[in-house]
Amino acid sequence: MRASSYTIYVDLPDTSEEMLLVHGYTGAYDKVSRKVANYLRSLEARRAPQPLYGAWVSEPSTVEEEVKAPSDGALETLIRRGYLTNMSVEEEEELLVKMATKIHQQKVAKMPSYVIMPTYNCNLRCAYCFQDHMRTNPKYNHLLRTIKPEMIDRIFGAMPQIEARHGIKDGQAPSRSILFFGGEPLLAANLPTIQNIVDKALELGPATFSAVSNATEIEAYGDLISPQRIANIQVTLDGPPEEHDRRRIYADGSGSWEKIRRNVTWALEKGVGISVRLNVDRNNIDQMPAVAEAIYAEGWPEMPTFSAYTAPIQPGNDNVSKQTTMNSYELDQALAAMRDEHPSIKVLGRPDDSTRNQAHRLFLESGNGSGMPPVRESFCSAHVGMYIFDAFGDIYACWERTGNPNIRLGYISEEGELHIRGDNEKLWRSRTVASNPACRKCRYNMHCGGGCAVLAEGKTGSLHMNFCDAFASRFRSSVADAFQAYTSGEALSAHVDRVCDQ
Ligand code: SF4
Ligand code: SF4
Repeated sequence: MRASSYTIYVDLPDTSEEMLLVHGYTGAYDKVSRKVANYLRSLEARRAPQPLYGAWVSEPSTVEEEVKAPSDGALETLIRRGYLTNMSVEEEEELLVKMATKIHQQKVAKMPSYVIMPTYNCNLRCAYCFQDHMRTNPKYNHLLRTIKPEMIDRIFGAMPQIEARHGIKDGQAPSRSILFFGGEPLLAANLPTIQNIVDKALELGPATFSAVSNATEIEAYGDLISPQRIANIQVTLDGPPEEHDRRRIYADGSGSWEKIRRNVTWALEKGVGISVRLNVDRNNIDQMPAVAEAIYAEGWPEMPTFSAYTAPIQPGNDNVSKQTTMNSYELDQALAAMRDEHPSIKVLGRPDDSTRNQAHRLFLESGNGSGMPPVRESFCSAHVGMYIFDAFGDIYACWERTGNPNIRLGYISEEGELHIRGDNEKLWRSRTVASNPACRKCRYNMHCGGGCAVLAEGKTGSLHMNFCDAFASRFRSSVADAFQAYTSGEALSAHVDRVCDQ
């Protein structure tokens, strides 16, 4: 018998006597004595494998000396829950690959989700925007046009063809999920276009609508923005009013806070879900308490459909210096450290809240977390069933890679036929934790999903490499926090839906 290669050891801050074990692919969570954990660690076949790029922080070291076995009952539990195995390292890896591949195929066979980009144009000029070149370099001017009515018809004609590829028969599609993305999709000038898209979607069948918007012009949409139509909007703020006005600027350099502030309140009063995203780096992290104060001053936390979360700014273009960015773990910990001095900062979700909430839910449901957490064999819907349509009829898997036909999944022809490029479809849709050698061996894989493919490509040159973003540390610290909250009866923050985990 040896310790499964997918056993995760979670230290608990308040005790040196006990720790948590979490199993990667069986989904088990168990509190055990440190003696039992040490026994397991003494049976590790090897040190925890390191990812090819980056490093895991403070991975528990392998125990070298022989450790006394626990009782037969404890051994039986360790075997049943997957922590002890008879399989060789290679056999277990093979099992993991089979499981991940099967789960992925099952997910791919479900209803796809849709993103429509009515335009790449935007009325703001945020320096870190990954589409900045489209508005500042005349070479890309042709990309800035708005989608035409004929193209909208072609897109809705293509949806049943796409669904058929996922095994969904004509007329049997459940509700379609449609997200508006840009550029800025909800420019006042786009109102007739967005109305047309909503009407066409509802002609085809039931649908839900959401948007990623800078919210500077959404007041023009009247009741098209309501719980019955565009019901959820993600809006970005970059700091308290002054800092935001330095970063999220109009082409003439003026700030956008005042317009966004008014429109967010307007949408919340209508019962529309507003999820505020805060892009954070080392230059604005100290201002998060002031952002939380500004949010309280607007009265938004009292509105039931409001939530806010933080995300690290990634070095997406040459305007962003790597020195100023931070990974998700650094951001999560920096926000945690501010909580005692600035209690209002709790209104801002931390990057790892979903992992914490999920573990907390498992502890609440079963006492020791023996429920099954969701499996994450791939990182995001770019690898499963997301179809992003732009104004030119091109179809993409990930919005960070839109506007470049070389990497498109396919296109819709003038005759309305769907054309999918097999090589690019394989490139995007086959990325799972089983498809690269680092993730396949990683004990965190079915909780992590392999990280953002675009960030992996930025770092290594390949979409199919791992992007760890300090996941090992983030996972262990989140599970320990959740356990502490469970034992102390403390509530954790509410869940926030994100459009993309990046
Ligand atoms: S997580 Fe990365 S790969 Fe997935 S949609 Fe976002 S940017 Fe694209
Ligand atoms: S599964 Fe996640 S933490 Fe593990 S190697 Fe892959 S990207 Fe890194």
